[in-house]
Formats: sequence, structure tokens, C-alpha cells
Amino acid sequence: MMLEMWNPLGIVGVITAFNFPCAVLGWNACIALVCGNCVVWKGAPTTPLITIAMTKLVAEVLEKNNLPGAIFTAMCGGAEIGEAIAKDTRIPLVSFTGSSKVGLKVQQTVSARSGKTLLELSGNNAIIVMEDADIQLAARSVLFAAVGTAGQRCTTCRRLLLHERVYDKVLEQLLTSYKQVKIGDPLEKGTLLGPLHTPESKKNFEKGIEVIKSQGGKILTGGKAIEGEGNFVEPTIIEISSDASVVKEELFAPVLYALKFKSFEEAVAINNSVPQGLSSSIFTRNPENIFKWIGPMGSDCGIVNVNIPTNGAEIGGAFGGEKATGGGREAGSDSWKQYMRRSTCTINYGNELPLAQGINFG
Ligand code: NAD
Repeated sequence: MMLEMWNPLGIVGVITAFNFPCAVLGWNACIALVCGNCVVWKGAPTTPLITIAMTKLVAEVLEKNNLPGAIFTAMCGGAEIGEAIAKDTRIPLVSFTGSSKVGLKVQQTVSARSGKTLLELSGNNAIIVMEDADIQLAARSVLFAAVGTAGQRCTTCRRLLLHERVYDKVLEQLLTSYKQVKIGDPLEKGTLLGPLHTPESKKNFEKGIEVIKSQGGKILTGGKAIEGEGNFVEPTIIEISSDASVVKEELFAPVLYALKFKSFEEAVAINNSVPQGLSSSIFTRNPENIFKWIGPMGSDCGIVNVNIPTNGAEIGGAFGGEKATGGGREAGSDSWKQYMRRSTCTINYGNELPLAQGINFG
């Protein structure tokens, strides 16, 4: 008899980013634990209270069910803890969520000891607006995807690709709505744009704007950090060429590049021209474009949407992206397999020796 057995890997290491301080842990730990593993988690160094609070909640559930606390362990700290997890041969799988730069390092360290990685890295997501799109729907979606969470989601829309026939119209609508964005305490009703995470994020925004300007970017709105307390910055739209090298990078702030195209094929080429491959979206009513977009000659991203923004992806589907985004998929369909090891078992319950490929050993 021949069968495939799936067994737990043992310990799953989870390293997470600041911007999803507990959700990413949740969707990793749930599958890892259900598959029979223990979890060792390191949250972001700037979100230790969430790490501690989450761990206490999990501990309570384990205790109520008479399970040992060591099933789920968390650590607070920075790169040194992350590196220790990456190096540790007792941890066969390291699930890493963060920047492509750090993710690549983690992948190299884990691979060097023949471990496995599950990578969820940077995005550089585009929304394409075709000439036949519902402009209202597209403009509302772009506003939510580019400004919401202050541009600090991996799926934030960073590039807006507009067909030349609707370029001015969409931009005009967006510029009007950008002027009305309420900036402030995100806990207050009506606030759309909260602060960036740290003073360093604010400095990165300012540095980014200088680089954008030096590469020919024209600021249509925003472009400045807001003076005073808090790490607030203006929601920004920039007109720039898709060839500018800064457009290929992820600036983790509410900065949107407006780019013009003439044809569907050109739009897809621009969408696919960046190193990252996380999320992408097209606004169109044309079925031909929709099916080309989700097909082999369409978007090269892990998340390929139609008439809905790039962000707010449903974790019920396989979540993740291609190329520099790391290729990992958390949740959805068969992602559980990554948290287990497979054994092919052949059991001879007879007295004969049936060999593979019918070999007669004599
Ligand atoms: P980051 O790469 O700076 O840090 C991520 C985690 O790695 C942190 O816990 C950090 O302490 C740890 N770390 C740092 N150096 C390390 C090292 N040498 N070895 C091991 N671990 C190390 O990222 P960030 O600034 O916290 O988060 C923002 C980035 O994360 C963005 O690029 C964003 O796109 C990405 N992100 C991706 C997803 C996704 O699902 N694809 C989700 C959220 C965030």
C-alpha cells in the first residue's frame, strides 16, 4: 500500500512587520497550530505591547484547555532576535512578513541551513483605470487605497495608471477629494488620514519627496510633512514618468504616482515593470480586458482585482505576491501544506517483494 502522510513540522517561527502587529501573527499561528506545530513569534520592535497582549490572550486559551504554554511563545526585540530565529536549526519553517530587503536576508540565512521560508514582502501596487471605467467608483477606490492607513499597507495603491482619455477627469476628481481628506487622530470619527508610524517614517517621506523631485516628479498636491506634534504628512499625488527609478521602489507613505497610458497592453506592461508583485487592480467594464488581465498575459501579481481596490484583500483567499514580494501564500486553499512535512509511505503487508518500475531483482 502506498500513501502520503502529512505531519507537523515542529516549530514554526513567525516574524512580523509593524503595520500588521497582530493580524499576520493570527493567520500564521492559526494554521501552524491546527497543523500540530508550536509557534515562536517575534513581533515588530515598535509594537511590543500588542505582542504581549496577544500572547496573554493565547496563553489564557491554552490554559483553559489544559495545554502547555510553550506551544506558543513570543519575544520582543529587533533584528538580533529575528536573526537568531533565522539561524536556528530547530525551526524548520520561518514565516517572515516585512520589507523585501530584510526578507531576502532572512531567506538566505534560512536556506543556508536548508530550512524553509514563507515570505510576505514589499508591494508596489497599481490601479489601472481604463477609458470605459466607472470613474466615480475608480476615484473612490483610489482614495481609499492610496490614503487609507496613511499609505502604510503592503497593498496600498502607489501607482495610478490612467488611460489618456480619462487622465484629466480622474485626476481632477482626486485632487478635489484629496483637499477634503481629514487628517488627525484616527480614533476620531471622520478621520481618513492618521499619522505615520515613527519620526523616522516621517523623515523617509521627506527624503522620498526630494528624490522624486530630483527625478522629474511634479507634485500635484501635498508633498510636505505637517509641522507640529505627531508624524503627520500630507496625502500626495505626483505626476512622473513610469521609467523614473523611484517609481520602482516602495515608499511607505501616502504618496501616489499618476502615470498616463494609451493602450491596455501598455498599462499591463507598466503594472508588471516593477520588481514587486503583490497587488493590482483594473477598473473596466470590458470583459475582454478583464479576462486578459487575469490571464497569462495580464497582471503578474499575486492579487489581481477588477473594479475593487488593491488593498483590503480577503484573507480567505491565498494572500501573497510574486517576484520581490517573496512568492509566499498565507491562508486560502492549500497554504496549510507549507506548515507540514509530507512523507510518502510504502507499506508491504505481503510476503513478496514488489519493486518500483516492476524491476525483477532475481
Ligand atoms: P522590516 O523589514 O523593517 O521589519 C520586519 C520584521 O523583521 C521586524 O519584526 C523586524 O524587527 C525584523 N527584522 C529586522 N531585521 C532583521 C534581520 N536581519 N533578521 C530577521 N528579522 C529582522 O519591515 P517593517 O518596516 O516592519 O514593515 C513594513 C514592510 O513590510 C513593508 O515593506 C511592507 O510592504 C511589508 N509588509 C508586507 C506584507 C505582506 O503581506 N506582503 C504585510 C505587511 C507588511
